[in-house]
Amino acid sequence: MPYLHDTLAQLQQSSPAQTEFYQATEEVLDSLRPLLDLNPRYHEHSIVERIVEPERQIMFRVSWVDDHGKVQVNKGYRIQFNSALGPYKGGLRFHPSVNASIIKFLGFEQVFKNALTGLPIGGGKGGSNFDPKGKSDGEIMRFCQAFMTELYRHIGPTVDVPAGDIGVGGREIGYLFGQYKRMTGRYEGVLTGKGLDWGGSLGRKEATGYGAVYFAQNMLKARGEEIAGKTCLVSGAGNVAIYTIEKLYDLGAVPITCSDSQGTIHDLQGINLKTLKLLKEVRRGSLREYVEHHPQATYVDAQNYPEGGHAVWHFEAQLAFPCATQNELTEVDAVALLQNGVFCISEGSNMASTAGAVERVLEARIAYGPGKAANAGGVATSQLEMAQNSSMQQWSLEKVDVKLQSIMADIHQRCAHTAEEFGQPHNLVVGANIAGFRKVADAMIEQGVY
Ligand code: NDP
Repeated sequence: MPYLHDTLAQLQQSSPAQTEFYQATEEVLDSLRPLLDLNPRYHEHSIVERIVEPERQIMFRVSWVDDHGKVQVNKGYRIQFNSALGPYKGGLRFHPSVNASIIKFLGFEQVFKNALTGLPIGGGKGGSNFDPKGKSDGEIMRFCQAFMTELYRHIGPTVDVPAGDIGVGGREIGYLFGQYKRMTGRYEGVLTGKGLDWGGSLGRKEATGYGAVYFAQNMLKARGEEIAGKTCLVSGAGNVAIYTIEKLYDLGAVPITCSDSQGTIHDLQGINLKTLKLLKEVRRGSLREYVEHHPQATYVDAQNYPEGGHAVWHFEAQLAFPCATQNELTEVDAVALLQNGVFCISEGSNMASTAGAVERVLEARIAYGPGKAANAGGVATSQLEMAQNSSMQQWSLEKVDVKLQSIMADIHQRCAHTAEEFGQPHNLVVGANIAGFRKVADAMIEQGVY
């Protein structure tokens, strides 16, 4: 379709060197072909050209003072991608790899993910190339305060409501919220993932991981299978990985791996959740120490990973949950997963799989839940936090979890029905992209040109 080809070519010219962003846009636009063929009105309203361009991109300097009195400088971003369905909503990522391309790909994915939840939220994303690793609490606090000193003027409970992502958890949200309150003099629901005593929602911390498992449960149910008794591969050792592992145990499965940026743990007895939480949530250290607590487990250093791949995907199992970062599952990994018996992948991380990996997995017709559908439980529960804040209520954990389960079942159904409507019932990538796009595109048309 020359229209799509031209739009992508134009994008590459106007936003040079943004490889992750091109990868995300190509994947979405490619799967829209059947929808666009049937609906010329999207072309007439230039929806594709508009939807790939963020409504607003904010880039700013973040200067802060480290523990030695030295002034440090980082770059801050907030990309307000699309507000057709509601206030911008999406996380903040603090990681040295952050740049405009990463934040734009995440923001673009967020637009469709948020649409899939069926909740009134637009898409945005932000962050900084600040590396929280090895920093003291004081340094983290001063960085967060400096970051919010600029960001506060661009956000608000009905404008843009950031949350956490890689490197941004409860501690960082606390410091960011405190500074927003000082800058504006207002106590309001401007961030989600807040502490439970000051506006947070029960179940938000667990939501992305639990949601990815609920999504897998729905995919398996559609194939007459269940989670109980399955051996699972999980990557990552942060918020999403930990609560994926917790829910897998709840449902009777056995997660046998986890990983961090330095290496992978393989424990056939099942990953010990208590040790994992101690090492990562409390000590914020390395996974390497896990084997000191559990000598039966093995540790594979990242330097010894298979060429072009990641050790975590090279063990025998039935289910796989990527929960670390983008492009963490390559074509080499996908081939190994399929050979080792995996028949269901539910992505906790965003754009977890490379284009080559997605192709292999779809060819094999196994159950595959792309991140924008499978990890939408996090943002959905963030929206539940917003609803609690604006009604000045706090719901029980049970109520939040019941809603989360029903939202994940709805997202699965929406993706599966749309995939079927377009003649590719096994392909939830097509289902997720078309269902998300259609909702945003129709709202854009109804709201007039902007
Ligand atoms: P955390 O910072 O809590 O954990 C990230 C984990 O991934 C850590 O174990 C980290 O290792 C590892 N990791 C990060 N970057 C890399 C890298 N470049 N190479 C190898 N390992 C890496 O983040 P979250 O758990 O919150 O996020 C994980 C994924 O889930 C991300 O893709 C995020 O966008 C996505 N997501 C998160 C949501 C949320 O609610 N938090 C919502 C929806 C999606 P180490 O410990 O060594 O740093």
